[in-house]
Amino acid sequence: MQKAMRSVLDGSTYVLVGKIGVFADKQGIKACIVGGMVRDIFLKRKTVDIDVVVLGDGMKFARLLADELHGAYKGFEKFKTAKIFLKNGRIDISSARSETYEKPAALPNVVLSGINEDLFRRDFTINSMAVSINREDFGELFDPFGGVSDLKKKILKTMHDKSFIDDPTRILRAVRFETRLGFKMEKRTLKLIHETLKRNIFDNLSGERIREELFIMFGEPSPLKAMLRLDSLGVLKKLSHGIRIDATAIRMFKNISASRSMIAGYGADAALINLMALLGGITSGAAGTVAAKLKLSNEQNTAIKQAKELRMLSEKGLAKTGKSRSDTYFLFKDHATEALLYLMLMQKDRKQAARIRHFLDKLKHVKIEISGKDLKEMGIKEGPEYTRILSAVMKAKLDGKANTREEQLKLVKSYF
Ligand code: ATP
Repeated sequence: MQKAMRSVLDGSTYVLVGKIGVFADKQGIKACIVGGMVRDIFLKRKTVDIDVVVLGDGMKFARLLADELHGAYKGFEKFKTAKIFLKNGRIDISSARSETYEKPAALPNVVLSGINEDLFRRDFTINSMAVSINREDFGELFDPFGGVSDLKKKILKTMHDKSFIDDPTRILRAVRFETRLGFKMEKRTLKLIHETLKRNIFDNLSGERIREELFIMFGEPSPLKAMLRLDSLGVLKKLSHGIRIDATAIRMFKNISASRSMIAGYGADAALINLMALLGGITSGAAGTVAAKLKLSNEQNTAIKQAKELRMLSEKGLAKTGKSRSDTYFLFKDHATEALLYLMLMQKDRKQAARIRHFLDKLKHVKIEISGKDLKEMGIKEGPEYTRILSAVMKAKLDGKANTREEQLKLVKSYF
C-alpha cells in the first residue's frame, strides 16, 4: 500500500500521515488510516482530509497530536472521536476499544480484533478497510470484509443485515457512493434497503444527519443522478409525500450544476439552491415541514420560503411585475441571493433571467447619497417616515431622476 499511498496522496498529506505514525509510535499506540481515505487511495482519488483510527484513547492521542502539529483540537466525548484542524486540512481521529487496552501495540491479536471491530461498525465493505501507519508495518492493509475485492467489482455491500435499520442515513450514503463512484449496490444490499424503506425511516433520525447527507449529495458536481435514484428507490417520498423528480426538477438540477461557478461567484450556497429545486413541486406548507425536520437555520428557512413565493410569482408571469429599475429593485431587495438564483435558473424567458442578474450585479449595490442624518438636519421628525422618504429617493435615483446629492436633497424638500 505504501507505493499507492505515495502516488495518490499529495506530498504534504503523505508526509503528514507518516508524522502521525511516528507520533503514534512514540505514544506506544497502534494507528491506522481508515475508511473513505483508504477507499480513495485504491480508487486513485485525491483526498486531503485524513481519517485515523487508534487502538486506545483516541481523544487523548488527538489532544497531544494537535499540540505537536500546532492544530486546533475539537473533541466529541459521546462518540470518542476528535478533529484536528490544520491550516490546510483536517484530521479525524476515532478510538477503537479505547477503554479496554492501554498499550495494544504489544499484542498483535488484540490489535487485529480491535481494528476488525471498528471496521465492522462502518457502512460498506469498501469503506471498511484500514492501513497501518506505525513505522514497523507502515502500509499494511487490514481488509477483513473483502473491501478490495468489492472495489474491483464496483459493488457496494453492506456489513450486515441490520445495517440500514440501525442507521438509515446509510441509504443516502449508498446512493451517494453509487452515483459518485459509478458503483452498483449488491443484490442483497438493495433488498435490505427496500425492506428498510417499508418503515418510516426518517421518523427517528435526527434532522441534522439527514441534512448533512443530503447537502453532501447536493455538493457533488451533479446531484441529479443521486436525486433520480433516491426517487426511484422511494426514499424521497419518505421525506415528504409529494416530492418527485419531475421535468422541472430535472431541468433545475441540470441548470444548477451548469452554473456552479456563477453561484460560487455570488458567494451563494449551491446546496441550498438544490434543496429549493428538490422542494419545488410541493406546497409551501409541506416544504416548511421538511425544512423544520432538516433543522435548517433561520436564514435557510427564510430563503426556502422566498424561493416558493418567487416561484409562484414566476408562474403568474414575472414580466407583469414591472420593467423599471426601481420595480426590479423593490421586488428583489429583501430576498436571499439563493432564492434569486433559484428564480433566475428557473426562467425560460431570457429577459427575465437577465433582469434578475442585473439586480444581483448592479442594482443590489446601489446606494443613495443622503441618509437619515440629512433628514434629521432638515428637521424631519425621526420615525417610520424616514424609511418611506429614503425609499422614494432610492426609487428616484434608480430611475435616473435624482442622481446627485443635491438632487436628492431637493427631492426630500419637495415633500415638505
Ligand atoms: P467522503 O469522501 O464523501 O467524505 P467518506 O467515506 O470519507 O466519504 P465520511 O462521512 O467522511 O465519508 O465518513 C468516513 C468514514 O466513516 C466512512 O468511510 C465510513 O467508514 C465511516 N462512516 C461514516 N458514516 C457512517 C455511517 N453512517 N455508518 C457507518 N459508518 C460510517
